[in-house]
Amino acid sequence: MSISSPAQRLQELRTLLQQASYDYYVLDNPRLPDPVYDQLYRELLDLEAANPTLIPPDSPTQRVGAPASRFHSVRHNIPLYSLDNAFDLAELAEWQDRWQRLASPESFSYLCELKIDGNALALTYENGLLVRGATRGDGLTGEEITQNVRAIRSIPLRLKLENPPPIVEIRGEAFLGLDTFRQINQERAQTGESLFANPRNATAGTLRQLDSAVVAKRQLDFFAYTLYLEGVGTELALPQSQWESLEFLQAIGFRVNPKRQRCESLQQVNDYYEHWATARQDLPYLTDGVVVKLNALALQTQLGFTQKAPRWAIALKYAAEEAPTVVEQITVNVGRTGAVTPLAELRPVQLAGTTVSRATLHNADRLRQLDIRVGDTVIVRKAGEIIPEVLRVLPELRPNGALPFQMPDHCPECAQPLFREPDEAVTRCVNASCPAILRRSIQHWASREALDIRGMGERWVEQFVERGLLSSVADIYDLTVEQLQNVDRMGEKSAQNLVTAIAQSKAQPWARVLYGLGIRHVGSVNAQTLTRQFWQVERLAAAEPAAIEQVFGIGKEIAQSVHDWFRVPANQQLIQRLQQSGLQLAGEAAPPQAAQPLAGKSFVITGSLPNLSRDEAKILIQQAGGKVTGSISAKTSYLVVGAEAGSKLIKAEALGVAQLSEAELLALLDENLEAAPEN
Ligand code: NAD
Repeated sequence: MSISSPAQRLQELRTLLQQASYDYYVLDNPRLPDPVYDQLYRELLDLEAANPTLIPPDSPTQRVGAPASRFHSVRHNIPLYSLDNAFDLAELAEWQDRWQRLASPESFSYLCELKIDGNALALTYENGLLVRGATRGDGLTGEEITQNVRAIRSIPLRLKLENPPPIVEIRGEAFLGLDTFRQINQERAQTGESLFANPRNATAGTLRQLDSAVVAKRQLDFFAYTLYLEGVGTELALPQSQWESLEFLQAIGFRVNPKRQRCESLQQVNDYYEHWATARQDLPYLTDGVVVKLNALALQTQLGFTQKAPRWAIALKYAAEEAPTVVEQITVNVGRTGAVTPLAELRPVQLAGTTVSRATLHNADRLRQLDIRVGDTVIVRKAGEIIPEVLRVLPELRPNGALPFQMPDHCPECAQPLFREPDEAVTRCVNASCPAILRRSIQHWASREALDIRGMGERWVEQFVERGLLSSVADIYDLTVEQLQNVDRMGEKSAQNLVTAIAQSKAQPWARVLYGLGIRHVGSVNAQTLTRQFWQVERLAAAEPAAIEQVFGIGKEIAQSVHDWFRVPANQQLIQRLQQSGLQLAGEAAPPQAAQPLAGKSFVITGSLPNLSRDEAKILIQQAGGKVTGSISAKTSYLVVGAEAGSKLIKAEALGVAQLSEAELLALLDENLEAAPEN
């Protein structure tokens, strides 16, 4: 693989991050997702740490934020720092070790606050009156935006203090609520203006509006979190901790985020972090992590600041669903249907809480469109249940000499030529005895949703096929303990367990058997729909496509595929052998149509539901005659929405598709059952 030298990579990263910062802070129009920026920034930090002589003073790591531009610049009385980041408990513990090397208090506690995803403001009050509001800028110099700050209603123009000290400095976060953010973007869409990428950029754009009437209209909000008092008389009881500072801020007229919590240990901090990982989805504003601060102000003063950030605080960020990584290799995988999928083998990266080292590149067209090459730095994304995919390449970080990838024209497993139908995106191996296809078919048959044969993992299947023990799914039922225990490291006990699991799989219902056969377009939902109507294999095998298509939810393509499958002599023999082995190839006759109150309605499920698994919800809907599909269209009757709903929700909103919560779905089912005629 071609890779850049450290010096070259350092230079490339700096150029990319500098440009990204400019787009982000000055144009309010980010070119990279935040987590991608964060990771690349980390890589730069690590590379600079390993090559300390190479750090120029204008490196993005050497400053906070971006220079001020459109407004008057003002020098901050006290600099505004950024925060160092941690992404998990281990990094949090490293931070604790770091500060404990510099201070060893007898006791200490942490204060956890939500990290509000907005923009830091510095407010100056003289004798209790707001005289200046400024953005953070580069931390030393910001933009003077007092007029706009005065338009934020949760910022008091006068402090609620009897004898205010001459100078009070306040730090806090200006932000936009999610509803307001959506409304602004809707209005911008109507007037043809470009949309804000996220509430943080919309906040920055609003704060830097030249017309403060627009600011007032946009309803910015503000949470205060830091207080500096100067020239205070003895009559004021000074806060001694961050907790007391927040109470003080509240008492003098500020909004303070109520979700704060004192924690005595890292474990408690982690519990708070984990709690808000999901609970934050119900907040009316965005948070991107938790800020952990040492509570005692005396300890904060003792620890002080690095060039960029306080040593006494850290931002514990939430797992990203997008991240940059490097493509180490491009391989191709032959699937159960012979489909050949290019895959990117990645330098392992943390994504949404799991380590990802492989992503699909879908097909030859997508591969060409992405122009992804070995050595490239790419952005990978994982959303919900979808396998990770490569979103795009960062060409700025491409190493010299990286060559375009050529899809093979012969199967990498059986060396037979690959084919592609003119109207299809997929390239296929059509050799029925290709070992890759056989392995995948067997894995699919044994999978949890199909025949659920525990202990028949990928590694074993590979060996059984290689040793010639399996050359068809039906062979599984002829396996003996004697044969299996001779396979490398299997042993008698595991062999016995596997043979028992195989025998138990014979009791699985007909719908699972049909799904397990791996007929194209027959997923578990279609298999259930089909087996309810065709309750014996003979009926399905004999049915003409037109008859199969009669079943609600089954389209032309599926009907044809099922029909064609049963016409192939090898498949007919397979069914015969499975029958002889005692598998369930028949179920119960279909219930009368009257018990199908949701017939004709189609549903899509997104996000995780509070009580039902997706499969359970699917089955309930299907039992009531409804159809569950994977993608939203204008024809979808309802979108069932759970937590962490993604693009489907956005699409449903755009198409005006009705939404149901789990409770509403259950109510709909109940309602319909009550309304359904008894029989
Ligand atoms: P940061 O946002 O990671 O953390 C510091 C900020 O947290 C503070 O300035 C403050 O505004 C905020 N904050 C929120 N709640 C707080 C609380 N309770 N207590 C204290 N502070 C609180 O760091 P940053 O220096 O503001 O910005 C860097 C971030 O900006 C990066 O992490 C990156 O995600 C983003 N960025 C993105 C791009 C891009 O291209 N996408 C470019 C530049 C920067």
